[in-house]
Amino acid sequence: MKKDVKYIYKQVEKHHEWFSNSLPMIASENVISPLARDLMLSDFQDRYAEGAPGDRYYQGNIYVDEVEIRVQELAKELFDVKYADVRPISGTVANMAVLMALGGPDKSITSVDVSDGAHISSAVFGAVGMRGMKPKNYPFDVDEMNIKLDETKEMLMEEKPDIALFGQSVFLFPPPLEELQDIFQEIGCHVWYDGAHVLGLIAGGEFQDPMREGVEVMTGSTHKTLPGPQRGILLADPRNEEIKERLFYGVFPGVLSNHHLHTMAALGVTLAEHIEFGQRYARQIIKNAKALGQALYERDFDVLCAHKGFTESHTIAIDVREYGGGETGVEAMEEANMIANKNLLPWDDVDSALEPSGIRLGSQELTRLGMKESHMDEVADFIKRVVIEDEEPQKVKEDVKEFRSDFEGIHYCYKEGMPAHKRFSFLR
Ligand SMILES: *Cc1c(COP(=O)(O)O)cnc(C)c1O
Repeated sequence: MKKDVKYIYKQVEKHHEWFSNSLPMIASENVISPLARDLMLSDFQDRYAEGAPGDRYYQGNIYVDEVEIRVQELAKELFDVKYADVRPISGTVANMAVLMALGGPDKSITSVDVSDGAHISSAVFGAVGMRGMKPKNYPFDVDEMNIKLDETKEMLMEEKPDIALFGQSVFLFPPPLEELQDIFQEIGCHVWYDGAHVLGLIAGGEFQDPMREGVEVMTGSTHKTLPGPQRGILLADPRNEEIKERLFYGVFPGVLSNHHLHTMAALGVTLAEHIEFGQRYARQIIKNAKALGQALYERDFDVLCAHKGFTESHTIAIDVREYGGGETGVEAMEEANMIANKNLLPWDDVDSALEPSGIRLGSQELTRLGMKESHMDEVADFIKRVVIEDEEPQKVKEDVKEFRSDFEGIHYCYKEGMPAHKRFSFLR
């Protein structure tokens, strides 16, 4: 066997070993359940399916169709929507499909600014720009970490956009969609919600409920707070048949051909598990995020939005300019087996994306591993030791490993308690 094969296996094993000894806190990540993970090794990985169930371009899809129809039904049930497209292979691809369907160079769009926490796909240098559009950004209140309601109303009335897009990657608080509904009605715009980060919280009934707050299309990633395979989803209550068709063709042939059937099957398991465990999971995620915010605040961290409980989602943001900035902070954390990402905060220049002031932390994976509010004090202690006290990361790492050893298994799924990372057997 070529030694490169062994080498690659070895690196992945090391990665597994590392992550099973670490505190994963990147707000856009999660671990899938054992039953979902298994399906990713199935023959579905090897096949092609283009088009829709029953209306395919290739043969061989008899059982693929059965699965896809069931996954669609699960998505409709979990999110209580009329239309679900489970084909997008990532959140960005789902966004591109919406832009394909509803956008274009002659269309206008409003969105949150990237430095206020929006995703690159909603920016002029991302998918929105690729569709020939230049977004106008909502006035944003950096103290409240939310859009300014009155100014946004005025701005929407002035711009009269074809598409009003909401949703963020630093998503601490729900935007006031209900309060904007009258304006949406008056303008007649498509209201699009990018729920990539908070999909699992929405499905668990613990964040806002966009589809009941005037939203026509909701997209998202299926691997952030929804703990599924790396994939995307498009959910909608289209205003008419024409929009529904445009959304359908926006996905295929718009932005993909095959749609990665193994992760589609795995998504079905995730959705089914979330119908059963999602509410409990979402509740604990939010409790843990608030507890982590409080614990860090008590340890002298500048946690954003202390005046209103730090967050209503899985995410908290801390400003660590005082302690060398986000980059220095997350590098020290990584050496101590705590995985997080640096992040732009609203007062940063977008050009400083590589050296921003902030660190973004998510509680969803720690929660998935069984942690509760009481454990957040210990997590905050570890972070303080490396970021504020400059303690030797290698020393903190030993304590992190020891702490993590009590949290091996995955929760809020079937086969509860099984370890997150499988060991490979082929090379033994
Ligand atoms: C993560 C994210 C996406 C993109 O998701 P991918 O699945 O990584 O393509 C889109 N929008 C928002 C707001 C996100 O946070």
